[in-house]
Amino acid sequence: MNTRILAVDYEYLAPATLKEALSVLGEKEGVKILAGGTDLITMLKTGSDANMKYMLDVKRVPGLDYIRYDDGEKTLHIGPTATLSQIEKNDLVKEKYEALSEAISLMASVSVRNMATMAGNICNASPVADSVVPAICYGAVLTLASSRAERTIPLHEFFTGPLGLNARAADEMLTDIALPLPKPNTGAAFFKKARVKSDIAKNANRMRDIPIQKALIRFKTLLTAIWNGSIECIIPSIIIKKINAYALKNIAAFILGKIIPSHWYALRAI
Ligand SMILES: Cc1cc2nc3c(=O)[nH]c(=O)nc-3n(C[C@H](O)[C@H](O)[C@H](O)COP(=O)(O)OP(=O)(O)OC[C@H]3O[C@@H](n4cnc5c(N)ncnc54)[C@H](O)[C@@H]3O)c2cc1C
Repeated sequence: MNTRILAVDYEYLAPATLKEALSVLGEKEGVKILAGGTDLITMLKTGSDANMKYMLDVKRVPGLDYIRYDDGEKTLHIGPTATLSQIEKNDLVKEKYEALSEAISLMASVSVRNMATMAGNICNASPVADSVVPAICYGAVLTLASSRAERTIPLHEFFTGPLGLNARAADEMLTDIALPLPKPNTGAAFFKKARVKSDIAKNANRMRDIPIQKALIRFKTLLTAIWNGSIECIIPSIIIKKINAYALKNIAAFILGKIIPSHWYALRAI
């Protein structure tokens, strides 16, 4: 794998505008979008993306690397070529979406984060994609654009299968990631269970809209919150809505024992 040889013969395309990129996607078959390339190039080296005929480099399209907050919508928008480093260091992300900033800081290495994008992390649709867990927790909505139309889809509906399958059509590109401002008195925290920091996650949990103090006062409230879906557990690519008693007990113990003590401030308990 550690070679400069790509096991695929392909044509490299560098569109100057988003419109141009979308028409390439609409007109040609076998197009693969290149953002940071940290997943795609690895796959090309191993030959696991052998059907690619065109590499569409969207990193050079101006204006797609934005991170901006829309005060009217009360929503943060992240562009498809904004790098993980840009997102991680953004002041608003650090302040209001700290679980995302934290998750990204635990991904790979600085050099990978300087290249890689959140859009690539989402579209690669790995079951252990680290930025996906907090993004689902914050209620992220994706915009998928093609030369035919534009549509939005909640991130938690985007993944359609365990092997990197997703709801994106071949002529669509992810053009925006929208993160609504978290509700008052709610908080989120990210905890990555892995051998070393740069490892892929072994387990990721998310917490949403749970009155933390109540949960602490009554262990049973926490169990109920997990049971009824206020806290959902994401275990590689499966969002578990109903879980068995054994998993429930383990997740509750993990949240109480690890996440809450180490992330109390991030959880912004009421
Ligand atoms: C050493 C190393 C360590 C890593 N560690 C981690 C880790 O700890 N956690 C983790 O989650 N990941 C990790 N990764 C995986 C990878 O870095 C991330 O998934 C990264 O965010 C991918 O982004 P990218 O911009 O490089 O995507 P690319 O490789 O450019 O693209 C990935 C896929 O998404 C598609 N794509 C990209 N942008 C779009 C778009 N706008 N619309 C539609 N499709 C698109 C591409 O066609 C491709 O199929 C690691 C990778 C490496 C090489």
